[in-house]
This record gives sequence, structure tokens and C-alpha cells, in this order.
Amino acid sequence: MGEREKELVLQVIADDCLSGFFGSWRDEFFGGPRVKEFEAAWSRRFQVKHTVSVNSATSGLFAAIGACKVGPYDEVIVPPYTMSATAMAPLAYGAIPVFADIDPDTFCLDVESARRAITPRTKAILTVNIGGHPARLHDLRALCEEHGLYLIEDNAQGPLAKENGKYAGTIAHIGVFSLNYHKHIHTGEGGMCCTDDDELALRMQLIRNHGENAVEALQLEDISNLVGYQYRMTELCAAVGLAQLENADEHVGKRKHIAERLSEGVKDLEGVTPPVVREGCEHVYYMWFCKLDEQVLEVDRKTFCDALAAEGFPNAPGYIRPLYLLPLFQRKIAFGSAGFPFDKSNVDYSKGICPVAERMHYHEVVGFEPCAFALTEQHLDQLIEAFRKVHANRHSLTPA
Ligand SMILES: *Cc1c(COP(=O)(O)O)cnc(C)c1O
Repeated sequence: MGEREKELVLQVIADDCLSGFFGSWRDEFFGGPRVKEFEAAWSRRFQVKHTVSVNSATSGLFAAIGACKVGPYDEVIVPPYTMSATAMAPLAYGAIPVFADIDPDTFCLDVESARRAITPRTKAILTVNIGGHPARLHDLRALCEEHGLYLIEDNAQGPLAKENGKYAGTIAHIGVFSLNYHKHIHTGEGGMCCTDDDELALRMQLIRNHGENAVEALQLEDISNLVGYQYRMTELCAAVGLAQLENADEHVGKRKHIAERLSEGVKDLEGVTPPVVREGCEHVYYMWFCKLDEQVLEVDRKTFCDALAAEGFPNAPGYIRPLYLLPLFQRKIAFGSAGFPFDKSNVDYSKGICPVAERMHYHEVVGFEPCAFALTEQHLDQLIEAFRKVHANRHSLTPA
């Protein structure tokens, strides 16, 4: 947070109106002046037609699924290697998340695995630009067009990432960004949903704000999923967001610099693979994910990671356990206790369904979150030194 954030927030306080929304049909149904200004600025920055602000990316993902008319017992294909909200979004509409495996280099949804998961019940693919690296977004979009499906991007971790010159979050039918405290740019809590489609934008606005009160005035024929929630962003958050967006390149650039320094510092070590940047992509490194080869290193990952932590290199071995291993999926209990919406499906959530995701989680990936620390060049040198020290001495470590 800087002077500009303070300045814009103090203006909101001086105006004495912390939210401009009304939940009934009138001009203010679409929010207050800062909210509208922030949405317009976001659309300009990311070169999209519409941006709908919300109070979190979770809300944004729920609104996106609802806008795409996903309903009970429909299927939505998702990767398992992501924050849990990704897979909760289909469930919020009574739909079934179907997990497809990930690519072992970027950890994003594997296109062929997604293709194999398509059934007559599939309505959408919800892909994730995990760690800040774009999934194969253009290929996934083509796959969706081929099968008449919606593509939604969970771009919570990828602001300003690009694939083939186009911003992540703008290649799918809808792209959802997070502005929570941990993300590259933030408003404490918040989210932004981008789309070029007029109808999808309006449907997300209705889901955001008590849509049931507006459908008559708008003379909408199809009112499915227009049950409204309260996902509205405050004027305070929008003011902070405006200032953060002005400095987005700097905020993102800092993370990239940290990640690139780390990669450079360990790339010659045998058994260690720093993050891969696929050709044509720009990576924004919400996470710096390196991979360890336990066979080549002749030491197990836990031993290596414990030693890294002891040397002052904070790390997350495995990052996130594949989501289908959560009790929700293992027990198939979501809403009520009778098994809805799994009761009419034979969807498989057994251990082993996504072998690549499991191998990454249990054996190969080491995550480090550059966003979590204010690192100086000296800290970076020390982190690299710590990593190299552990690597050089790995054979004398006591197994964990
Ligand atoms: C942070 C995050 C979310 C949720 O964002 P909120 O704004 O906290 O709701 C969803 N998906 C991914 C991949 C995330 O990293």
C-alpha cells in the first residue's frame, strides 16, 4: 500500500459513501462511482469489453458458473491441483466437478486429459493458471468451441500473465481474478470477472446483486440461475484497486524478478528443475515451483525440504494435495446428507485418478511464494546460497 492508495481511500471517506450499491432495480444497481471506474480501468488494462467486480475470486467463480447456465447434475471439468474454490464453484450450482489431470511441466490442466473427461453432461471447463503460468488457454478454448462448452479461467494467480500475446483471464469466455491479500495486487478481499460477452456480463452482474429484483425490468426471458447473491465490492476496495492497478506492472515485476533470480541461482543443480516457461507465455510467478527428482538426488523430498526450511528457505513441499482427496469428495457429501449432487452420478474420486497431480504433490514439487516476503537482493543471495548448501550436502542429511 502506498500514498496513492491512501489518497484515493481518503476521498471515499470524505465523500461519506462506502458503497454505492442498491439491491433493487435503479441506477445504483450496478454499483457506485469507484466501482464503475475500477471496472472500466480494469477492462482497459486487460483489453476486454466487460469487467464485473466482486468481493472475492470465489464469488467470481460462483458467478461465472451461474452465468454459464450450469445446473444440477451437469459436469464441469476442473484440475485437481488448485485452491479448493475452483472445484467448489460447480458444486455451488449443484453440478459435479470432474477432475482431469495436469501437465507435469506447468501443473496446469492437461488438454488431452480434459478432452477424455468430456461426456454428454459436460457444460464447461474451468481451468486454472496455477502459480501464474497460463494453461494451454487457446487450445482449451478451441476444445470448448468444438464441443459447445464454456471455458472459464480461474486466473486468481495470473494477473498480466500472457499466452501468445493475449492476457490470461481474457482468453476464456470468462476469466476470474483474485484481489485477496495474498495476490500480486490486492484490495484486502476482492475479485474481477472479465468477459467479452454482453449476456455473460449482465448475468454475472445479476448474480452479484440480488438479480431476482431486476429480471422484470430487464425483461429477461431466461431467468435460470439468476438467483442473486451479495457479492458486491465496496467503494473503499475499488479505490484501493484503482491505485493498485496503476502500479500493477511494478507489483507483478517484483515477483517476476524474485522468481527469475531463484531460477537462475539453482538451474545448474542436478536433480533440480526450476519453473518452466512454455514458449509464447509470460509467467507472473504467484508461486515459484521447482521440481526435485528424488532418484537423481538420492534423497527424498521431505528430507531435502526440511533441510531447506532449517536453512531459512521457507517452502511448501507439494503445494496443494489433489482436491479429490478432500473429505467432501471422498465421502461425496456436499449439500444435505443424502449425497447431492453425487447421488445420480458414478463420478470417480479414487486416489490414483490423476497420477501426474499426485506425483507432483507427493514427490516432485517444492513451492515458494515470492509474494509472501519483502525480499532484498541480499535475501535472494542468501536463499540461493541456502538452496545450494542443502543440495551440496544432501547425502549427509538424516532422512526425515
Ligand atoms: C486465491 C485463489 C482463489 C480464491 O480467491 P479469493 O479472492 O480468496 O476468493 C481461487 N483460485 C485460486 C487458484 C487462488 O489462488
